[in-house]
Amino acid sequence: MPAANNYTQKFSAICEQTLFPLLSKELKTFISDKAHRYRFTLQELRQICEISRDLDMWEETSIQQLWINTQIEDTTGKAAKKAIINQLKTDWLTLKNSATHYPKEEETTLPLQKLKLETREKKQLGLGYCPVASERTRCCNLMTLDAIDNCGFDCSYCSIQAFYHEDKVYFDQSFAEKLQALELDPNQIYHIGTGQSSDSLLWGNKHGILDALTAFARANPNVILELKTKSKNINYLLEHEIPSNIICTWSLNTPTIISNEEHRAATLDDRIEAARKVADKGIVVGFHFHPMIHYDHWREDYTHIFHRLQDSFKPAEVALISFGTLTYTKSVVKQIRQRGLKSKILQLPLINSDGKLSYSEETKLEMFSHAYHSFTQWHGRVFFYLCMENNRLWQPVFGYAYPSNEDFESAMKRAYMAKTGAVITK
Ligand code: SF4
Repeated sequence: MPAANNYTQKFSAICEQTLFPLLSKELKTFISDKAHRYRFTLQELRQICEISRDLDMWEETSIQQLWINTQIEDTTGKAAKKAIINQLKTDWLTLKNSATHYPKEEETTLPLQKLKLETREKKQLGLGYCPVASERTRCCNLMTLDAIDNCGFDCSYCSIQAFYHEDKVYFDQSFAEKLQALELDPNQIYHIGTGQSSDSLLWGNKHGILDALTAFARANPNVILELKTKSKNINYLLEHEIPSNIICTWSLNTPTIISNEEHRAATLDDRIEAARKVADKGIVVGFHFHPMIHYDHWREDYTHIFHRLQDSFKPAEVALISFGTLTYTKSVVKQIRQRGLKSKILQLPLINSDGKLSYSEETKLEMFSHAYHSFTQWHGRVFFYLCMENNRLWQPVFGYAYPSNEDFESAMKRAYMAKTGAVITK
């Protein structure tokens, strides 16, 4: 069988092990032509497809253009192939390492995904320790409560997409009963958060979810229940009596990042206005800047929000401000590429950081120090912390650090108790 046919057979076998099947028709034609001309190995084809996918997502340039730019003689020799692929990788890395630039800010918020809301019986209550905590980071030992499975928002960096692949959102049909039956130690303060497996407020009181959560908080004054959200759906909170040991926290980001990477989520204005209305009702609020994203206008865009919060809220109304960055596991990076959303969320210099892919320590220190020092009025009056970051960063950013996760946890709980009035019940 002629060599050409041999490679065609090999090519059809190896391309299934790469992103090739997910690429556009035009890209597939181009890459298949080059692969047959240069007899790409599986590894070479995988790299070329990943670079093509990234360039397509970033809307910066194309693999075809970068190939032309190599200006390497289009002969079929191994040397030429190696030189071309090395040049492509260099150009791809240059784009990755240069300051990300977002061309425009989408005015409109995309409508919610058409997801089917379904109930199902879960074997047990989705209560456990924070799924992203790790031994390598200084962590607050948050307990997370999965009230709902899957989210209607579509943040390009979100790890939820690595878990939920269906167009369904699941409510546990006996969530309220399970929560009521939960036995807690009355001598202990618990910090429990919702908002990891879905948004806490997006669905309102569907299937009685907020009724169950507020009843739980009311019955357990030693629980600090944190409802984390990117939503403006606060009607339930405004129309019902909310126990003081519930805090509502908004994840905030710049309008550029919200419109380009936090698809379908509420705008910055809507989030801050929702928090203001909730605080007016006497509910303690908080703000998470996680992930902070390093792009060409990050400093002025985040600074604007930092100052706006200090103009819009009193420190007594705010329990916490947290900072964090993008940290990816390899499976989430793979998931993001497989989805292929138009996004620049992988166009950044990712380095191996404490077992995950993230920014360099230098970039983190620059962003976190700037952020913290933009809140001098609130230092000592609001609880500031780094989420999912190595303990090494705390001292240079805050001027203090906790010797252990337990020390961090108790300091956080003391601060939240002082704002919410949560008490040990025995
Ligand atoms: S610091 Fe962040 S990652 Fe660590 S346990 Fe707390 S919420 Fe989870």
